Amino acid sequence: MTHIVVLGSTNMDLVAYVSRAPQRGETVTGREFRTIPGGKGANQAVAAARAGADVSMIGAVGNDAYGSQLRSTLENSGVGTGHLRTAEDASGTAHIVVDDEGGNAIVVIPAANGTVTGLAPGDESLIATADALLLQLEIPLTAVVEAARAAHRHGVRTILTPAPVQPMPPELLVVTDLLVPNEHEAAALTGLTDPHKAATALLDQVPEVVVTLGAAGSLHAARSLAEPVAVPAPSVTAVDSTGAGDTFVGALAVALAEGRPMPDALAWAAAAGALSVQRPGASASMPYRPEIEARYT
Ligand code: ATP
Repeated sequence: MTHIVVLGSTNMDLVAYVSRAPQRGETVTGREFRTIPGGKGANQAVAAARAGADVSMIGAVGNDAYGSQLRSTLENSGVGTGHLRTAEDASGTAHIVVDDEGGNAIVVIPAANGTVTGLAPGDESLIATADALLLQLEIPLTAVVEAARAAHRHGVRTILTPAPVQPMPPELLVVTDLLVPNEHEAAALTGLTDPHKAATALLDQVPEVVVTLGAAGSLHAARSLAEPVAVPAPSVTAVDSTGAGDTFVGALAVALAEGRPMPDALAWAAAAGALSVQRPGASASMPYRPEIEARYT
């Protein structure tokens, strides 16, 4: 089995469903409330575990009830939590208001995630045993840089999702093997709205880029390719695209770690992404390996 390490966030999503979001100073009565375990780090870890890898998560939950729930959700998905700290802080939360038109407003409180400022003893040895390290930007950049450098030292492939999008220091990009932005992130990072141009421009900073394009699939650019290659997404009826990006990256990491060539790995990840958008929820909608194998052509 391949081994994937994920360094990143865990959040409890606190979702209020309302017909319309309140204005400042206003109170509205909502329809429903749900608590949904999430955070980009945890979601990518679940996606990779369901796709068939042995996955370990580095990060932190809070010393509260949400923390226990976030930890057990990961464990129930088969994700190793031996390197997931319990911080002297609250768990990270995302306060989400979803209106009847599907629009949302979100406040994220990083809390425990903000305490992950670097690697703890033992984390580097764990990373050294991995086939790939998955990174996102929902924890302090200092930790992301330290982990990516550790992976690089040990010859472990680093795969970075630049979300939430923000300026990234050159010392991070220089140890990033594969950058996977969505089209909005690619545009924000380069100032170029054309994904072909944005992907090509990003090759000045990293050797390989996959820009995800929702229902339109993805675009693979690499210094070794003459020009970016489009990868189609299976045509499906989408009911909820939340977490599609994390599903895609988790599955892509597993396929690459198993030694599949990039075009095959991208088709495999596209199968996983297409399965996830046909079901509601983020981690709840992530497909298991046999489903991905059956959908992959
Ligand atoms: P999210 O923020 O919702 O998690 P994202 O913006 O990071 O997603 P997307 O580009 O929307 O990422 O989707 C990632 C991948 O999932 C796409 O490249 C595609 O392969 C697959 N996908 C997303 N939406 C669809 C869809 N409607 N039909 C088929 N595949 C899809």
